[in-house]
Amino acid sequence: MELRHTAVLASLLGDPARVVTHRPTVEQLSRDFYWYSPVLRKQLDGKIGDLVVQPVSAVEVQRILRYCHSNDIPVTARGAGTGNYGQAVPLYGGIVLDLARMDRIEQITRGGVAISEPGVRLGVLENEARTVGWELRCYPSTIIKASLGGFLGGGSGGVGSVAHGNLRDFETVRALEVVTMEPEPRIVLHQGESVHDILHAWGTNGIVTRVWLALAPAVEWAQCAIAFTSFAAAFDFSERIAADSAWTKRLVTPFEWPIPSFFTPVRQYAPEGKALVFFMIAESQRADLEAAACSRGGEVTYSGKYLGLRTRPLLSDYTWNHTTLWAIRSDEAYTYLQCAFDPATVRDQMRRLKQRFSDDILFHMEFWKAADGQMIPGAIPVVYYRTEERLNEMISFCREIGVFVANPHVNNVEGGGRYRADNVQLLAKQRYDPKGLLNPGKMITFKPHEFAR
Ligand SMILES: Cc1cc2nc3c(=O)[nH]c(=O)nc-3n(C[C@H](O)[C@H](O)[C@H](O)COP(=O)(O)OP(=O)(O)OC[C@H]3O[C@@H](n4cnc5c(N)ncnc54)[C@H](O)[C@@H]3O)c2cc1C
Repeated sequence: MELRHTAVLASLLGDPARVVTHRPTVEQLSRDFYWYSPVLRKQLDGKIGDLVVQPVSAVEVQRILRYCHSNDIPVTARGAGTGNYGQAVPLYGGIVLDLARMDRIEQITRGGVAISEPGVRLGVLENEARTVGWELRCYPSTIIKASLGGFLGGGSGGVGSVAHGNLRDFETVRALEVVTMEPEPRIVLHQGESVHDILHAWGTNGIVTRVWLALAPAVEWAQCAIAFTSFAAAFDFSERIAADSAWTKRLVTPFEWPIPSFFTPVRQYAPEGKALVFFMIAESQRADLEAAACSRGGEVTYSGKYLGLRTRPLLSDYTWNHTTLWAIRSDEAYTYLQCAFDPATVRDQMRRLKQRFSDDILFHMEFWKAADGQMIPGAIPVVYYRTEERLNEMISFCREIGVFVANPHVNNVEGGGRYRADNVQLLAKQRYDPKGLLNPGKMITFKPHEFAR
């Protein structure tokens, strides 16, 4: 990118320090956790932006996008860069729009809606909400680092989804504002159903600058780890707790052995050869849960009050996609899939996968409540990577036997499995980013465009 752009952008912000050209910093802020996938690693290594720009307001975002529009400069939004599909990696250089400084929580309403800028870290929002009797409905296991805007742009659900569904369900995102990439960028309010135009669009169709997020009443939580002699017993018990609305829970996560052996800091809670389940349960129900588990052959290996995100051990650090991280630390050949099993046939589906792929697939389940109220046995299985063909064979086999796969080894919105069949994200891109300058290359059904570097 030409040098003159750096000077103009600095003058637009009135602060040269917020236009970053220092190469190692630009490199660092151009990456996310795409390296979880050996397939994406090959595609995305070495892709970097030309410079990083750090706005502090929606008005500054408008100024930057106006300039980029008139100069055909690609813009890739970045929250905290914890996504693991290369969502925030700029494929065609240009500007990395680092939104971390737009992190103001404007208000938490009496009715439990947080109104906030996109750069706020989810952990900060959770802590703030809890001081006034609310908490996040669901959050990724990266809560401490991840931003709200990044969760909306690229995340799906996580801790809490077993009770409140995924981020896109149950009107959790009440409204949002986006800045468009047009000759005169506008700030457009999306509320109700129209939030889905923007959610999980990887920043390809607008820059989110303000969010209205519905919260849940805060609960006094406890955590426990319970071991079972077989994964079947661990899964049966987990499913029972997840599906029964009498239990107030935030996390129900069963792991097949040897996955618990990867969790080095909490290895003492994982008896050799046994399946393990991690729970976050209402403190008032902890004793009942543990008694119920023991009556079904479970052994409580850890139990304690949850005292917030500084609690140690923090069991959520081993769940959702953190499980994959611990597996990769143990052996770099591990990677993962993201699946939704059929509640009616989940055991048969798991049996068939095991029969075909043996321990190349290790079960790590995560439940979530679907929009119709059904409890979905989701999974982020740990997968031993041999070749791309073998990985694709596993994905195809899953789909053949009715297991839904949101493929984490592709670098576009449509391929990732959360693209809307009604094309609302694409339609919004056509309206708000007609030149295709926002995170170019990531929405492949959009008419391709050539970008000169
Ligand atoms: C160890 C690990 C565990 C994880 N666990 C989970 C999990 O439990 N659940 C889950 O859903 N995800 C999970 N993830 C993925 C990721 O952490 C979350 O989706 C997180 O919310 C992303 O937030 P971020 O700020 O890091 O976003 P980024 O990675 O910075 O961005 C994600 C996408 O959103 C876009 N974006 C960012 N800000 C904006 C904005 N203001 N406007 C428009 N677009 C924007 C970016 O361009 C990018 O496409 C995990 C990842 C890792 C590495």
